[in-house]
Amino acid sequence: MIEIDNVSKWYGDFNVLKHCTTSVTKGEVVVVCGPSGSGKSTLIKTVNGLEEFQEGDIRVDGTALKDKSTNLPKLRSRVGMVFQHFELFPHLKITENLCLGQMKVLGRDRETAMKKATALLERVGLEAHAHKFPGQLSGGQQQRVAIARALCMDPIVMLFDEPTSALDPEMVNEVLDVMVELAREGMTMMVVTHEMGFARKVANRVIFMDRGEIVEDATKDDFFGKPRSERAQQFLSKIL
Ligand code: ADP
Ligand code: MG
Repeated sequence: MIEIDNVSKWYGDFNVLKHCTTSVTKGEVVVVCGPSGSGKSTLIKTVNGLEEFQEGDIRVDGTALKDKSTNLPKLRSRVGMVFQHFELFPHLKITENLCLGQMKVLGRDRETAMKKATALLERVGLEAHAHKFPGQLSGGQQQRVAIARALCMDPIVMLFDEPTSALDPEMVNEVLDVMVELAREGMTMMVVTHEMGFARKVANRVIFMDRGEIVEDATKDDFFGKPRSERAQQFLSKIL
């Protein structure tokens, strides 16, 4: 579903991604971890074309991002993205947040969009909040809305960038629970997170990044059993 092939990226002189190669197959859940500044967000943003890269290739569902004939906005609409900060439209009610992309990008009529929005709000347990504004919800609830909004677009893959790291601790689990359910239903997911409990529960593979490199790309059992690299071992010993 996602193929990242020898990708390198620079910000000016700064080499932020160095020969990154990995892939995510359909239905797989891949957790990306590593120290702050190691390039995790940059990597995940290159996958849906939010960041350019200078070398290598990325294909999403067989479509090469670099191919000039690729309709990037269309491809991007099929890749769900959930960030650390919820990025809901503050002036729109929850239902409108969920309908907007469906109507504007996918061309659904209001009734169809509303049906989908209602079903997904139910799925994340927030149907009672449909007519509120984002500011009236807690951080955990807003993040669940952000996930529902992404799912409204029928994504073929979901990317998460530290979706729980801006939340108060008591709200982390309600968001992780939604993600665990999604993983168990077979959604293809690439998740930047330091929630190793989540990784242990549902990850198929764990990628460890350091200074722009993919240092480790292992099955969950191998990674938690004993990472090969010293850098990953040190990282794990600090966060576990
Ligand atoms: P992570 O998500 O692992 O914390 P990032 O991908 O956000 O790391 O950033 C990797 C490195 O790239 C950091 O050193 C960061 O300062 C740098 N960086 C990120 N965005 C930019 C940018 N737009 N311009 C220059 N440097 C950047
Ligand atoms: Mg980041």
